[in-house]
This record gives sequence, structure tokens and C-alpha cells, in this order.
Amino acid sequence: MPWRFDNTYTLLPELFYKRVMPTPVSSPQLLIFNQALAEALDIPRETSDISTYANTLSGNNLLEGSEPIAQAYAGHQFGHFTMLGDGRAILLGEHLTPDNERYDIQLKGAGQTPYSRRGDGRATLRSMLREYIISEAMFHLGIPTSRSLAVVSTGDLVYRETTHNGAVLTRIMSSHIRVGTFEYARQCGNIEDQKALLDYALKRHYPQLLETPRPALELVRTILEKQVELVINWLRVGFIHGVMNTDNMGIACETYDYGPCAFMNQYHPKTVFSSIDRQGRYAFENQPFIAHWNVSVLAGALLPLIDENEDKAIELAQAVLDEFEKIFIGQWYQMMLSKIGIEKLTDESKQLLTELMELMQKEQLDYTNTFRSLTDPEAPAGAPLVSDLIPEWNAKRLKIIEQQSGGIESAIERMRSVNPAFIPRNHVIEFVLDIAESGNLAPMYDLLDFLKNPYTPQSQKLDWNKAPKDHDKSYVTFCGT
Ligand code: AMP
Ligand code: MG
Repeated sequence: MPWRFDNTYTLLPELFYKRVMPTPVSSPQLLIFNQALAEALDIPRETSDISTYANTLSGNNLLEGSEPIAQAYAGHQFGHFTMLGDGRAILLGEHLTPDNERYDIQLKGAGQTPYSRRGDGRATLRSMLREYIISEAMFHLGIPTSRSLAVVSTGDLVYRETTHNGAVLTRIMSSHIRVGTFEYARQCGNIEDQKALLDYALKRHYPQLLETPRPALELVRTILEKQVELVINWLRVGFIHGVMNTDNMGIACETYDYGPCAFMNQYHPKTVFSSIDRQGRYAFENQPFIAHWNVSVLAGALLPLIDENEDKAIELAQAVLDEFEKIFIGQWYQMMLSKIGIEKLTDESKQLLTELMELMQKEQLDYTNTFRSLTDPEAPAGAPLVSDLIPEWNAKRLKIIEQQSGGIESAIERMRSVNPAFIPRNHVIEFVLDIAESGNLAPMYDLLDFLKNPYTPQSQKLDWNKAPKDHDKSYVTFCGT
């Protein structure tokens, strides 16, 4: 099937985007191409004529039907409002699958745009490969995410603190409409512009809300619920996004912007890896509260569309936002209890969960391997078994499970479906990236293959599942690399 571009974003008022062409690169080479994703989207697969994709997915040649733009947006970065926009990403357009599903096709690192401010519009090879690995891992973990179609090395150098090889990543998402896009509309647009964006977003993602009496309010409610679901998934697998600014929160509620993210090894609720997050604003345990904060920013941006009377709009929005705690706490317990095989929230099951979390924190246990040790004594790569550490705790837990309708067997099956046996460990990613940068991509391909079945123990790669000796204490992640 050929590409089928349809560029509806360019039908929005002009303040929402700028037309801009990718800046050519000197020597594009296709390093990795996601055949399975190409097949799922019905786009041409990589053929023997690899140079075609190297040229189109670096931005040197235009894909037929594409109308490249940079999107305008604003955002709260670490709590502070800023005007932003695609500074190094260029949207080639929207591709339609044969079922008319719509996907943004974006080149990240494609050169400067009117929104680049002082940036060079480029990305390093290492960070684009890292995003490819982690986004694909998230997809296979069953977590809504942007996808990565390809990484093309550019042959050009990128300057950060030192020199790096440059690359362009092809990112695929169901859209790049952000909380920050609505903030931008409120700040820079008139009421007609705000309405146009709301109408566009609803038609694209939540058409059923168009029929409700207050679509803008229902959008806030829907995003609140979907964002809770997303963050619950992150907490389930120990994922720390790292930079949950409002420009990095999409209204389709998919995980994206993989710059400073990382997976937690040793359980500690305050874990932070990002070099710039000195206050721990985006720490592991803070993520749900930040999601709530971000949704309140969305509500604030939508106030004039919720009701003409501002007091009334605030009252309505506040009532929706106030639902957050109840929704989150309920789902969090359900998810965490499912990790230990228990279905019902009771005082006893709550107590069991608290005891385990306290033990994990005190003994510095590995988050992934500890939960997995409840079902797979062979999988945790040398990790202690919880049943050995706290036998009485385990006996109490098993007693509850035995009384559940499916008994132990169905509990084990459920636990294996929510507790990954394998996550992309930071030290493993860095290991394959070091080798990739020296020109050998084989270990990275191997890792990507391995990440396709995160819930199935694969004993041949137990080493890759070991927690690092220092729990990644000195591991630091960066934005904008
Ligand atoms: P992020 O931290 O990735 O969400 O980026 C925040 C903003 O900075 C976005 O508007 C990006 O487009 C922009 N940005 C990040 N890196 C660069 C770069 N190298 N050149 C231009 N703009 C950039
Ligand atoms: Mg961003």
C-alpha cells in the first residue's frame, strides 16, 4: 500500500502552525526500520531500495502527499508558562490506514523551525535510538504510546556539551494535540480559534462528546479518566516519564516525549533520574498528582468554552477535577493488588500491600523482579524470593487467593499478565547504545526482539534482567539531546 496523506491540521486557523520544510542532511543512512509497524499502518515496507527511505525519513526528499508543518503550542514547564512549538520536529502530515485510522507522521530532529528559539533543530543518534527502544518496549508492555517507525543517521554532527552523531526519528502518534495546544489557543487565539481547536480535537479523538451538552467539560472529564489509566500503567511497570510538562501531555493520552524517562530498579517512591528535576517534581510517586495538575491546566484553558459565565465554568470544572482522587485511588489499589494476585480491596489486603511496599523500600528490592518472584521463582535473576523473605506475609496472601473464585491458578495467570518479567533496564539500554554508536547494531536489534515479549520469562537473557549493582544510583537522564 502507498502512503495516504491527508493534512487536516493545516485546515485549522493559521496561528496553530507554520509551514516549514525539513533541512536536508548530508549523508542519510537508514539504521532501523519497524517492519511490523509499517505493516500495521499499511505503509510501504523497507525494500531493497533502502536509500528511498533514508532520503524521505531524513527529510531530504518529500513523501508524496506530505505538507510539512511545525505545530504551535505553549506549555507549563516545571510549573511555569512558556511559549513553545515544534522546535526540532516537523509533522509530515497525517497518514490514513485502509480503515481510515489517522496517524501523525513526524520527523524528530529534522532541522530548525520558526519555533526553534536558540535550538539547532537536531537530535543525537543516541537519544533517538533510545527513544526507539523505550517507546517500542512500552508498546509491547501494553501501554499507550507514540511509536517509532525508523531512525536515520544524518552523517552530520550535533553539538551539545560534546560532539555527537545526528539522527532523525520518525515518530508516529494518533495526534500531537497537547494540553499545551489548548493553552496556546487561550493565550494567543480568539474565541473562534479556541472553538476551532476544540472542535478539531473532538472530531479527531472523541466524536461521541460532540453530542453532549458541554463537550469542553466532557473533554476534561475524559482526559482525566484516560490520564489516570495511563499513569496507573506507568506505576505498574516502574516507568518514570521524567518531564510531565503540559506540552508533553497529549489529549489522546499516549506516552510520548521519551527524553529523560527511565525505568526504576530498586523500589523507592521518590526515584528521579532527570538531571534538571532537582526538586523531584516528576518523581515516580508524584506522577498521578502531576497528571491531575496538568488536567487542571487543560480545564483552565477551556474555561470560556465550558460556560460563558466564568464562575459557573470554574464550578463545573472543579467538580470534575475533584473526582480525581477517588478515581485514582480506586484504580491504584486494584492495579497494585492485582500485582500480588488479590482481587478485592479489604483492610487485610490493603495491609498486605503496605507491608510489601515497606519491605521493598527498606530492603532496596528490585521493583520488577520482586513482583515477578511471586509467580516465577526462576525468573528474577538472583533476586530474593518474597516468599523466603516474609513467609508469614506470603502465607496470609495465599490464604486470601485460595478463597478467590479462580484460586491460585487464575491468580498466577493474572499476575503474569500485569507484572513484566522483563523491562528495558537503563544499564542494558546504555550497553547496547554504546555498541551501536561504535557501528554494531546487532545487540540493539537483539534487545528489541527480546522486548517484544515482556511478560514471558526468557531464561537465555537472564543477565539482561538483573538489577544493576548500584541500583542505577548514578544514572542521569537529559532533555533535548
Ligand atoms: P522537550 O523538553 O523535548 O519537551 O522540548 C521542549 C521544547 O524545546 C520543545 O518546543 C522542543 O521542540 C524544543 N527543543 C528541544 N530540543 C531542541 C533543539 N535541539 N532545537 C530546537 N528546539 C528544541
Ligand atoms: Mg516535548
